[in-house]
Amino acid sequence: MVTKTANYDLSSRNTFRMRVRCALYVEVTAEEDLLALDWASLPQPVMVMGGGSNLLFTQDFPGTVLHCGMRFTRPSGPRNDKDAQLVASFVIPSEASVSPTLVTLGAGVVFDDFCAWAAAEGLWGPENLSLIPGEVGASAVQNIGAYGVEAKDIIAEIRAYDRTTGQFVTIDPATCAYGYRTSKFKTEWKGRFVITAVTYRLSRTPQPKLDYGGIRKALEEMGVSMGSQTVASRPLPTRTDPSNDVAAVGPSLLHGRGWPWVCEPTLTPISSNALRIPPYSSLGCGVRLRR
Ligand SMILES: Cc1cc2nc3c(=O)[nH]c(=O)nc-3n(C[C@H](O)[C@H](O)[C@H](O)COP(=O)(O)OP(=O)(O)OC[C@H]3O[C@@H](n4cnc5c(N)ncnc54)[C@H](O)[C@@H]3O)c2cc1C
Repeated sequence: MVTKTANYDLSSRNTFRMRVRCALYVEVTAEEDLLALDWASLPQPVMVMGGGSNLLFTQDFPGTVLHCGMRFTRPSGPRNDKDAQLVASFVIPSEASVSPTLVTLGAGVVFDDFCAWAAAEGLWGPENLSLIPGEVGASAVQNIGAYGVEAKDIIAEIRAYDRTTGQFVTIDPATCAYGYRTSKFKTEWKGRFVITAVTYRLSRTPQPKLDYGGIRKALEEMGVSMGSQTVASRPLPTRTDPSNDVAAVGPSLLHGRGWPWVCEPTLTPISSNALRIPPYSSLGCGVRLRR
């Protein structure tokens, strides 16, 4: 179904609650909606938006904001926003008892719903990415990451509408030039693809990734077992002091409610050590901190 709203107020659709409007807001819920759209008639430019948690609008947007609300694996499946039914809609292949398990999700699925569901199912892969805001579609654009795991580690393939050809394509993540919070979707392919679904590779074999900072030690000291549900569990103690040692908490905690996300300032290793926050040292200059 295609829903179009002119002069749309985006304040409820962006994390910063910026009171801005776009000329046209288009919500699609099935892949064929993208084929049916008269792209040339849409106010330009056309921007694809997920949950709006990595966007900062400073003024009204003169073009079209397009949101892919596909919540199901089947391109034209029925829409239902209730979480229970959403979870029930996740398609687990018949070989789910073996590893790896491929799970395909519509671009509009809330990524953290997926993490919670996978943990509850005893499936390993996204647990360290729990509580990162945003949707499945953007996870493949941004290469979201936390605690030593990035989306690229679990993405098996991406399905997208290619605006240059009007065709649907399957994209191999190996071709996406994934890097720290970046991909070709943000550079060479910017504006070209509308991601409609992402297939993630999960595992029923326990594979805790606890080597970031002091996570393993902290969880051991807390006396918790290493099931994926533990790693992704909530509620867990929320950190309130930015100078706390990350080892005192554990995976997922830093994304807890009320914890302000700061744009990962680049600090020197010395100040990183002073704050006792483990660095993410992928950058050539200094280190990146998450809090
Ligand atoms: C409190 C807070 C904590 C955060 N913590 C982390 C963190 O720990 N790790 C991390 O990696 N990020 C983090 N982020 C950033 C944010 O969660 C990610 O960037 C996330 O992927 C954004 O998802 P979204 O659906 O809101 O995307 P949006 O902000 O709506 O869009 C992000 C980009 O993806 C594009 N896009 C979205 N959907 C599609 C689609 N279907 N097809 C094509 N392009 C699309 C948009 O055009 C835009 O370029 C955090 C943000 C906040 C506000």
